[in-house]
Amino acid sequence: MIRDSLGRELRDLRISVTDRCNFRCSFCMPDGHQYEFFPKEEILTFEEITRVVKVSKSLGVRKVRITGGEPLLRRDIEKLISMISPFVEDVSLTTNGFLLKEKASSLKEAGLKRVTVSFHSLRDEVFSALVGRSVRVAHILEGIEEAIKVGLTPVKVNVCVVKGINDDEILSIAKFFKDMGVVVRFIEFMDVGNLNGWSLDKVVSAQEIVNTIAQHMKIRPIGRSYRGETALRYVYEDDGREFGVIASVTQPFCGDCNRLRLTADGKLLTCLFATDGHDIKKLLRMGASDEELAEFIVEVWQGRKDRYSEERLLLLQKGSVPRKVEMFKVGG
Ligand code: SAM
Ligand code: SF4
Ligand code: SF4
Repeated sequence: MIRDSLGRELRDLRISVTDRCNFRCSFCMPDGHQYEFFPKEEILTFEEITRVVKVSKSLGVRKVRITGGEPLLRRDIEKLISMISPFVEDVSLTTNGFLLKEKASSLKEAGLKRVTVSFHSLRDEVFSALVGRSVRVAHILEGIEEAIKVGLTPVKVNVCVVKGINDDEILSIAKFFKDMGVVVRFIEFMDVGNLNGWSLDKVVSAQEIVNTIAQHMKIRPIGRSYRGETALRYVYEDDGREFGVIASVTQPFCGDCNRLRLTADGKLLTCLFATDGHDIKKLLRMGASDEELAEFIVEVWQGRKDRYSEERLLLLQKGSVPRKVEMFKVGG
C-alpha cells in the first residue's frame, strides 16, 4: 500500500478508454466546439492498459472503473474487461447508457461486475437538451433494465443536477428509481474542464437535494460505506432502499480521495481537476519492466498533494482557477 503526501492510500484506478463520445452533454463536452481527439496511435492498447492494472494491483489498487468519454464506443471493450478482471476484485463501468442494451450481456460475460448509468431527466426534451443529442429516455431505461437482467448489479444511476434545467425533477427521479430498486446518486454540477460555463449559482447543493426529497419521504443518513467513497448515502425509511448525493462542491471529500486516473493516451492524473498528467505511455513503449512502472506510479502517487475541491472557493475568490484537463479526457 502506498500513501501520498497527505497520507491518502492508493485504492482505486479509473481508466478512460477513449476521449470520444456520442453525446455532447452541456456540463461536460458542450456542443458547438471543435474537439480534437487523441490520434489512434496515441491511445493505449489493451495490453498496455492491462499492464498498468497489473502493476497498480501490486501497489494496493482494489477497484477499477472503466470510463471515458463514452467507454462503450471503444471497440472490443469486452476484451479489455476480460483481460483486466482476473487482476482486480471489482471492475465497474460508467456509461451514458446509449449502447448498454445491446452490450450488457457481453459485458457481463467478459467479467464486468456492475455498471453506473448517467441519466439526467425523465423527459425526452430535457434529456436530449442536456446531452446535446436526440435521445429517448425509454431507450436508456431499456439499457438499465437489461443491465439488471443480466446481473450487472447493483446498477447505479448518476444524475448531474443543473439549476434551472433538471432540478425540478429531483423528486420524480428519486421516486422513479426507488420503485425500480436502482440506487441514484445526485451529483452537484462541477467545474470540470474549462468549457461547461460553470458558475456557483448553477449548483444545486447536496443539502438542497436532500431537503427536496425529505419534504416528501422519510429518509435517514447512513454516511459513506467505506473510506474514500464519494457519495453520502441515505435510506428511505419505508423500504430501506438507498440514494446518495455527491457533494464535491459544497462538502468536498479530498481528505479521503484514493483515486488515480489513467487517460486514454496514457497519462496518470492524480485529480479530476488536474492541469496535467504524468506520461506512463512513454515508459510502456520504451520497454520498461514492471518494477520500473511500479516505481513511476509510486513516485507520482507519493508526490500527490491535490485537494482542488477544498481549495475551489479560495481560487475562485482570487480569480486564479487554473486551466484544467477536460472531463471527457480525464475520465469522470
Ligand atoms: N460517458 C460516460 C457517462 O456519461 O457516464 C462516462 C464518462 S462521464 C465524464 C462520467 C460522469 O461524469 C457521468 O456520470 C457524468 O454525468 C458526470 N459528469 C460529467 N460532467 C459533469 C459535471 N460538470 N458535473 C458533475 N458531473 C459530471
Ligand atoms: Fe459524453 Fe459522458 Fe461527457 Fe456526457 S458526460 S459528454 S456522455 S463523456
Ligand atoms: Fe480527489 Fe481532486 Fe476530487 Fe479532491 S478534487 S476529491 S483530490 S479528485
